[in-house]
Amino acid sequence: MTRRYNFCAGPAALPDEVLKQAASEMLDYNGRGLSVMEMSHRSKEYVAIAETAEQDLRDLLDISDDYAVLFLQGGASQQFAMVPMNLMGENGVADYVNTGEWSSRGIKEARRYGRVNVAASTEDVRFTTVPAQDSWQLTPGASYVHYTPNETIGGLEYDFIPQVDAPLVADYSSSILSRPLDVSRFGLIYAGAQKNIGPAGICVVIVRKDLLGRAGPHVPTMLDYKVQADNGSMYNTPPTYAWYLSGLVFKWLKQQGGMPAMEALNLRKAGKLYDYIDGSGFYSNPVEKRYRSIMNVPFVLADAALDKTFLAEADQAGLLNLAGHRSVGGMRASIYNAVPEAAVDALIAFMKDFVQRHG
Ligand code: PMP
Repeated sequence: MTRRYNFCAGPAALPDEVLKQAASEMLDYNGRGLSVMEMSHRSKEYVAIAETAEQDLRDLLDISDDYAVLFLQGGASQQFAMVPMNLMGENGVADYVNTGEWSSRGIKEARRYGRVNVAASTEDVRFTTVPAQDSWQLTPGASYVHYTPNETIGGLEYDFIPQVDAPLVADYSSSILSRPLDVSRFGLIYAGAQKNIGPAGICVVIVRKDLLGRAGPHVPTMLDYKVQADNGSMYNTPPTYAWYLSGLVFKWLKQQGGMPAMEALNLRKAGKLYDYIDGSGFYSNPVEKRYRSIMNVPFVLADAALDKTFLAEADQAGLLNLAGHRSVGGMRASIYNAVPEAAVDALIAFMKDFVQRHG
């Protein structure tokens, strides 16, 4: 069996240790003679799995009791709707900052539920930078302010947490758990699991409790944060196995040394890859340096005619899923927590070799 290096943007690499543990527990969880997938979500064993996962996530991000932690379905895309449905209110208006494909999608969806003000956008510079906070045209009395701390496709990451009066809402899908995070600055954080948390099928929502109970009368029961919070995310059958695997990832992160250790590692991994790209004279990345993502590293070759060859040879070399998003082309290396530093080293070695042969 060979595990190759997987640079997929999502569903993304999971730690070997986590997959091995899940495999060892597949047929018989903890001597109960059944798999986690086959358990009632209301059983003592499963409730312990769910509660431990939540507590480990709370420990990792130092989440206070002022916040509910929810494990929901529908991915981050469903949050594009749930956020306005729950927080916009009658005649409300929400501020959104547009820094790329994923913020654009959030804006488009929110417009179905109320008034959206695009407070700032960097579309005119092809989303290669983050708009300075003092340029944001915020609405006094807005229901909330939404932004995307890490744009997965553009490889753009904020280096600051915005300071706003309204509750701050953030789509942390592709950068949650990559470094320490001051949750207390936010009204609500959401993140689809399939990058830095676990397998697809689950979405983590961290919501300040005073924001619960604001959904209008027509919001479906399942999409009301308060209902989910009151029922421990078990109003109906939750995605039990994805929740369990996410819990194994949280344990693994704790064993790695938690957020400070992950930050140091992630900065090192991203730093060496960007340094190589910048110095190569063959590869390039267009994002303003201080806003470069440490999770998603897009780059293009000097000659796009070589893209197919690059991808084929990389795959041959055991470096998988390096194609950029279908909307932008080029390459993208997603280097989430579970992608080891050795994978980045192998990628850089391959890129150097490729230039020697084709550059
Ligand atoms: N937001 C961001 C930042 C993302 O990267 C993605 C997925 N790539 C989404 C939202 C959509 O996530 P999902 O597929 O879970 O709906």
